[in-house]
Amino acid sequence: MTLDKIVEAIQNAKDIVILTHDIPDGDAIGSSLAMYLGLKQLNKNVDIVIPEYPETYSFLPGTNEIKTEGKDEPYDVAIALDCGDVKRLNGFVKYFENANTKIQIDHHKINTMFADYNFVNPLSPACSQVLIIVLETLGIEVTKEIGECLLTGIITDTGGFKYQGVTAETFEFTAGLLSRGVNVSSIYKKVMQTVSKARFELTKRAINRLELLEGGKITFTYITKQDQEETNSGINDHDGIVEIARDIEGVEVAIFLREKDEGYKLSLRSNEYVNVADICLMFNGGGHLRAAGGDINLPLEQAKERIVAACAKKL
Ligand code: 5GP
Ligand code: MN
Repeated sequence: MTLDKIVEAIQNAKDIVILTHDIPDGDAIGSSLAMYLGLKQLNKNVDIVIPEYPETYSFLPGTNEIKTEGKDEPYDVAIALDCGDVKRLNGFVKYFENANTKIQIDHHKINTMFADYNFVNPLSPACSQVLIIVLETLGIEVTKEIGECLLTGIITDTGGFKYQGVTAETFEFTAGLLSRGVNVSSIYKKVMQTVSKARFELTKRAINRLELLEGGKITFTYITKQDQEETNSGINDHDGIVEIARDIEGVEVAIFLREKDEGYKLSLRSNEYVNVADICLMFNGGGHLRAAGGDINLPLEQAKERIVAACAKKL
């Protein structure tokens, strides 16, 4: 079984590197740190390599041990978390590809199964929830610190326990953490409620230019590089904009574009029936049924036209 192989590889490993997708969200950083702290508990020689992460998550235990680079020699084992496609490991993919044994733990519906051992549960609402069973099987105790990391992943990827993917296990696990002293309310406030000034400004701009298309079933908005510079935005200050558009009455698909050095990063959300993961496959990306992303290297108007047409076909 995959899980047995993963446990065996970890137990035999001399050194391990932990990686996640670029511009990590709460689930990416939470599951990576939980894995890191768990492996430390087993006295493993382990590096967690994340070149850049949002300031929002700097309260999490273990963040001061995050490295921006790994070692040059191959690691025995590399573990990628919350990443459906190896190319999303970006500049640090070398640590993954050079490792003797490659493992991934994930929950994306679209997953290219790029590792030697792929432990992927697309029914799980967060990678952090998939990780619970891996940690248990490794004999790792879910301490208060590990719990805080896992809960951050669960809260952020379930939109605060409200998405369809939430299971009884989500609440059972959270209840267990509460009785172990994890302050659920405080973590919720830090990762879901508090909005940076930059995010607020960026959101205002995106809302001001939001358009309702196709009889109000599709929304479109975007932010430019200039917006991000002028508002002094951090790497995740655009988070949440696409969800605001999705939540407008009558909307089925929300489209959000964020200008990058080259082209645009695409985010799609849907409400009831459009499979946005499939649409994002056409734009070099992937994700989940109701939340997905991709890349598009066209001028804004052309990018908009292409994406709106792809979404409109699925209405
Ligand atoms: P977001 O819109 O928040 O960036 O991403 C929504 C979901 O789609 C997340 O689960 C994210 O991991 C996934 N996703 C975003 N961009 C990409 C991409 O370029 N490729 C793949 N495979 N998944 C993506
Ligand atoms: Mn995730």
